Amino acid sequence: MKLFGNYDVVVVGAGMTGVVSGIVAARRGARTLVVESSGLIGGLVTGGRLTKPTGLVQGGVYRELIDRAVGYGGADAAPQRSYWGAYTGVFDAEVMQRVIIEALEESGAELLLFASVTDVVRDGNRVSGVVVQTKAGPELVTGTVVIDATGDGDVATLAGAEFMIGRDGDGHMQPMTSYFRILNVDFPALVADLKDHPEDVAELVLPDSGRDRNESYALTFFMTGLSPRIKRAQEEGFNWIVPRDNLTVKAGMLPGEINVNVTRVQGNALDPRVRSQAVIEIRKQAYCAFDFLKQYLGGFENAILLDVAPVLGVRETRRIRGDYVLTEDDVRNEARFDDAIGLCNAPMDIHEPGGNRAIMINVGSGYGIPFRCLLPADLEGLLIAGRCLSVDHMAFASTRNTPACALTGQAAGIAAAEAVSNGVSPRAVPVAKIQAELTAAGIVLGTHTTDFLDETS
Ligand SMILES: Cc1cc2nc3c(=O)[nH]c(=O)nc-3n(C[C@H](O)[C@H](O)[C@H](O)COP(=O)(O)OP(=O)(O)OC[C@H]3O[C@@H](n4cnc5c(N)ncnc54)[C@H](O)[C@@H]3O)c2cc1C
Repeated sequence: MKLFGNYDVVVVGAGMTGVVSGIVAARRGARTLVVESSGLIGGLVTGGRLTKPTGLVQGGVYRELIDRAVGYGGADAAPQRSYWGAYTGVFDAEVMQRVIIEALEESGAELLLFASVTDVVRDGNRVSGVVVQTKAGPELVTGTVVIDATGDGDVATLAGAEFMIGRDGDGHMQPMTSYFRILNVDFPALVADLKDHPEDVAELVLPDSGRDRNESYALTFFMTGLSPRIKRAQEEGFNWIVPRDNLTVKAGMLPGEINVNVTRVQGNALDPRVRSQAVIEIRKQAYCAFDFLKQYLGGFENAILLDVAPVLGVRETRRIRGDYVLTEDDVRNEARFDDAIGLCNAPMDIHEPGGNRAIMINVGSGYGIPFRCLLPADLEGLLIAGRCLSVDHMAFASTRNTPACALTGQAAGIAAAEAVSNGVSPRAVPVAKIQAELTAAGIVLGTHTTDFLDETS
């Protein structure tokens, strides 16, 4: 097979997890390749428009990227409060893509787009490379360490790792949802309607001041609710085809821009037919919800449907079994671990598998994510990071949020580069070494001896 290249670190997946891993590894001097199957950089964060980090982002490359986006007027990094806790502002998806490109290039990491990993190279139980399928056909990429940041755990699965899927008992996963964006919303009129009808609103976050101008609402407006109004519309004969009876909307960076979270398709996103049909079904639901907003909510008279997020919003697929499986009890009990690589305060955010509820369970001061969750059991030379982390279904509802994914990406990047420098497998890298670098990057670890998030920074 044709050789594409030899690398120290090969990161598969250019979502936020893989981007962070690639930048960290390359900055430490590792010859790094980031492989991505699509032509989009940032995965769900940019292509799925998941521009609100759930959980505080206190340090590391993810925080750097948000701060850079602030510099372009494309983010508000100020801590915000929600009913489940504190989180770090919101950002614009295209500005985020811009700063990712800058940071990747500065780090020296190479990016290979339009290349799907379809196989791995194994030497005994050690992963030593991947096969990428490109327009030029299959090509070989060797890597001293490979990081699986595919979200779906594709690389680890190809390497023979054991994986877990969905809820205990029935295996059902959280549904798919794609955001869509609307322009030309008259925010003052929208807010007036919501204030006149508090019975329709479950949660409303408004900017502190300046509520008479559309621009005042950029970034800060957040609303969830509208069940009674959807019910009323249905009684009047409106054909509401969305299998969810409330909406979440948040303002974007552009004056009059709103992002809507309401579409929902159940099923296994690893099934090619289900995945394909979900794209169509989600679009139909988005068109329906847009029509509803125009007809039944103030401020939408001149609204324009801008786009449905180009990347399908897959919440949950495989979770790879690692040296430790983080559990719901760990999350609920705010567990701390000696080998923790980050403290996560994201709630367990559950869009009900097979049902229509959206449930948020607060995790208090947060829990540590053990380094062992990044080490796929019985395999060497491979790290797992991001959505496919070694966690149970309920813990996943918290770790799936981007700040936690980015923490695992940061730790994986350090561990991979350190493993290369010392000629060892990632499993043999001293955790204290990884933790020291994470702490230096401003990351709160979640060990027994640390620590609480500073909600003011
Ligand atoms: C509807 C929805 C709402 C959400 N809301 C929030 C929220 O409000 N706040 C929050 O913090 N988080 C939220 N999340 C979760 C969060 O956005 C993601 O879990 C997180 O961004 C995942 O990052 P990742 O890099 O691990 O995965 P992804 O972003 O999925 O990136 C994986 C990348 O790997 C690539 N890839 C996959 N397979 C291969 C392969 N075989 N070869 C090469 N490349 C491959 C993909 O193309 C993709 O670019 C939400 C998610 C969804 C779907």
